[in-house]
Order: sequence, then structure tokens, then C-alpha cells
Amino acid sequence: MEPIVAHDRADLDKARSSGRVALVPTMGALHEGHRSLMRLARTLADQVVVSIFVNPLQFGPGEDFSRYPRTFGADLGVCAQEGVDVVFAPSADDMYRPDRQVGVSAGQMGTIVEGAVRPGHFDGMLTVVLKLFNLVRPDVAVFGQKDAQQLALIRRMVADLDVPVEIVGAPTVREPDGLALSSRNRYLAPDDRRAALALSRALRAGAAESAPAAVRAAATAELAASGLAVDYLVLVDPATFAEVPDSFAGQAVLAVAARVGTTRLIDNVLVTF
Ligand code: AMP
Repeated sequence: MEPIVAHDRADLDKARSSGRVALVPTMGALHEGHRSLMRLARTLADQVVVSIFVNPLQFGPGEDFSRYPRTFGADLGVCAQEGVDVVFAPSADDMYRPDRQVGVSAGQMGTIVEGAVRPGHFDGMLTVVLKLFNLVRPDVAVFGQKDAQQLALIRRMVADLDVPVEIVGAPTVREPDGLALSSRNRYLAPDDRRAALALSRALRAGAAESAPAAVRAAATAELAASGLAVDYLVLVDPATFAEVPDSFAGQAVLAVAARVGTTRLIDNVLVTF
């Protein structure tokens, strides 16, 4: 069955089921990682809504907003194959009033790690996610661990602002050679595609160690050997994104961001001490 395509709140209200609703927010250019979120959502609710919206607010000047892949026809086909009930595809004009003033602030946690490289990114991301929650009114929403700081900030927003939705995280889907699936992988030329493997290789090298200092050292050495332009490599608390001390016990996130040619990639793994 083809999904219902909704463009605004009125369409959504018409399409909404009286049962449990799960939302999977995306920016389109759908791949196997997005499909895994849709399948997980299916197990959590009676109705699955996928939003497809390239959110201008979360791209900085000089970032890839205008060249971000837009493949709506193919995306609808993916949603149909996965049994998605409703595709919410608003236009930027539908989403943002020209006189818009108020947005969500990600606070201090939005200014560290990924937020330090992309100022304002997490404010824009949280603003659109809160709007999507208010428009779709899901019981549960599914996000990928691939964007670990995003997931942590969405959990914080829901807690700090008492948003009535359950947040579920989903594991990262990878290519057989380790590269994390990303809509941005399609920018990679064959040489870049090979070079990009250094990210997952560094994370694996780090995760094979058993103490925080050794994890950082092993991952750093692997990245240094790759010659990629690294934005950061950090070992942080999954809830706060603060660096963990060498004495740390519990679960941490080893997260990396690097530029491969003109494409910026991020990846992470969970490590337990
Ligand atoms: P995006 O379309 O890139 O904004 O991503 C939409 C959702 O898919 C986010 O919750 C991402 O974390 C998630 N996602 C992206 N890549 C992957 C992946 N390789 N595996 C699992 N989830 C992913």
C-alpha cells in the first residue's frame, strides 16, 4: 500500500490513527539505516509516520543545505516497501512562518563536541524535532544512535520540557566493510569512499581496548595514520557528552568527525568500561 502523503497539520489530523503512533524523523535520501528505524517503529505502534524534511535551520552558512540530496520519489518507494502509513513532507514555508521568533536552545550541551564545530546546529535540530512532535503528536519516536549527540539532546529536551513522547534509540547500520550508512556517503568518490573507512577502523581499534586512555590512544593512532582532516575524536558520557575520566566505569561513546574530500562524516561506537 502507498503511504498517505501529508503536507501540513490538517493533512496529518485527517490521517492520524486513534491507536499508537510512532514517528521516524528523517531528511530523506533514505537508506538501509532509515529502513531499520522504520522497522523498529513498526514493532512499537499501530501507525508509522515518517517525516521527510531538509531542515534549513540546522545547516550553518557554508554547509551543504543546498546540495543535500533530495530524492523524494525514491524515498516514497522506500516508505511504501516498509509499510509506512503516513509520509509527512512539509515545505519550508509550511514549517516556518516568515515572522518566526521562538526556538529551542540546546543549552551548553549544544555547544560542545559536534556543537562546537557546527554552531547553532543543535538549536535548529531541536526546534524542528519539537515542531514535528507537536504536529504529529506521536506516542513514540525513533532516532539513530549514529547521531549520538542528537539522540542525547532529544532525550534532554523531552525531559527538560516535559514533552509527552517516548524516545527510542536504534543501533547504527553499517556497510559490510564497516562504513556507517549516511545520506552523505553518496557524495564520496571511490577514493574518498576508501579513505572514509578510517573512521570505523579507528572506532574499532579504540573499542578493542579496555581502559579510557588506551581507547583514546588506539583510535587517535589509527586516525593519524589515515591523514584525514579530523574535527574531533572524543570519549564521552552518552547522556551529557562530557569527556569521561580515565577512572570511568560504565558506558561511554567514542565519537569521531572528519572531513573526507569535501564531505564531512560522523560516526561513533558505545564502549563499556
Ligand atoms: P537523517 O536523515 O540523516 O537526518 O537521519 C534520520 C534518522 O536516521 C536519524 O535518527 C539518524 O540518526 C538515523 N540514521 C542515520 N544513519 C543511520 C544509520 N547508518 N543507522 C541507523 N540510523 C541511522
